[in-house]
Amino acid sequence: MTIRRGQRGETASDAQAQATITVGFYRMASDPSRLSPLASGLSRSELLRCDREIVWHPFTQMAEYVPLVIERAEGCTLIDIDGRRYLDGVSSLWCNIHGHRHPRLDDAIHRQLDRVAHVTQLGASNPTTIELARRLVDLAPTGLGHVFFSDDGATAVEAALKMAFQYWRQRPDSKPEKRLYVALADAYHGDTLGSVSVGGVERFHAMFRPLLFEVLRAPAPDMYRLPAGVSAENACSHYLSAIERLLAERHAEIAALVIEPLVQAAAGMLMHPAGYLRGVRELTRRYDVLLIADEVAVGFGRTGTMFACEQEQVSPDLLCLAKGLTAGYLPMAATLATDEIWRAFLGTYAESRSFFHGHTYGGNPLGAAVALASLNVFDEERTLEKLGPKIDRLAEHLERLGRLPHVGSVRQRGLIAGIELVRDRETTEPFPWSERRGQRVCDRARAEGVLLRPLGNVIVVMPPLAIGLEELDQIAAAVERGIVAEMGATTTAAAQSGA
Ligand code: PLP
Repeated sequence: MTIRRGQRGETASDAQAQATITVGFYRMASDPSRLSPLASGLSRSELLRCDREIVWHPFTQMAEYVPLVIERAEGCTLIDIDGRRYLDGVSSLWCNIHGHRHPRLDDAIHRQLDRVAHVTQLGASNPTTIELARRLVDLAPTGLGHVFFSDDGATAVEAALKMAFQYWRQRPDSKPEKRLYVALADAYHGDTLGSVSVGGVERFHAMFRPLLFEVLRAPAPDMYRLPAGVSAENACSHYLSAIERLLAERHAEIAALVIEPLVQAAAGMLMHPAGYLRGVRELTRRYDVLLIADEVAVGFGRTGTMFACEQEQVSPDLLCLAKGLTAGYLPMAATLATDEIWRAFLGTYAESRSFFHGHTYGGNPLGAAVALASLNVFDEERTLEKLGPKIDRLAEHLERLGRLPHVGSVRQRGLIAGIELVRDRETTEPFPWSERRGQRVCDRARAEGVLLRPLGNVIVVMPPLAIGLEELDQIAAAVERGIVAEMGATTTAAAQSGA
């Protein structure tokens, strides 16, 4: 018996409904003009079933998961297996920069594939990765002369934390007692255990507390829910004095302070006050504490400049990059370090001063090739220069959205925006997270062809930098209609129940 690919495990009605014929790796829909390349020979229903039952999705309740299977993309639009089109309103989780299937980026990967797909960084190298390291050093804030490659944001932070620890032990005037970290409340630095230790998002991290190392916590410089007696004008100095108190008291034990510069992304796009990052840099210098800048989310143009640190003329001691590094194409991360840190690791083999850390695919040449091509596209397409009108257009939309009922705060830095829904605008009382207000608005936007992923009650808009003005309008319109529909439904339900 021959089993036609595309029919395994289907019911007769599934098969009839789809009327698909699988030809090699191509699935021909009943309309032959739609010849759609699928990575596998699975039928539509099998794909959906396997995605629900076999694939374990991150940060997803699998018992309730409704599959969304994207098969291909064009520019800033993603296309699912049914041919439905979605604007990529969150840059495929904050990483896509120049749009999908950019010819220059695709070509760079093809050309690298013709040479070699992978070369280990453990005792070897390849020209593409070397060239990328050189470009990053030239581009990054001054003083960061060395690049350690890994694969994801979490590993970039993990490497920085371990480098800081080892550095203090190996400095000429060794200070092994410096082994603590300072991090901000509600920080997010990834999901490996070191990154989770410095993270502070209760809902994600509380479960793992018994596994984590000690971290000194400073308040998140939240400008929306200011502490009593603090105003927007004195917020920066208020939050900086909290850091100063910590450093003054414990600096002899502190190895590093880790921060998401300008925007605390996963906390709900919390925007730090102007001058805060610079103040943190001055304090860490004064108290001899390393500064780790985690630009995994904000790097590569998101905030309007190539790196967020530039906006406050800050050079950290360690800089973590990932996500946009490959323009959202391949997993690749980099931890940049100063000469001083690098020198503390030099010595003979027998002295055992090497950095004892590494990942199999760190520095992968395919990733490096597309990262280099992305930096070229930044130049050729003048990506940063073209951001101004997009940032302004987003601001106009936010101004309007901010007037909607139950929108407590709209906040923006560059092409990053957070729209926070609250139960009570006067008191800023949040909706209980279990009501999934943000998700409900995003579900409505999705039905209109705009793909968004919220952070609790905060709707995040963070499109590729290549987004067009009209596409931005579409995203904002879908968010607006989603909020009106959801919050309108709330009012009606509340009125009906007599609440
Ligand atoms: N650091 C920051 C600031 C992030 O926002 C993220 C992810 O969102 C990470 C680190 C972790 O990156 P990855 O998911 O690539 O491990």
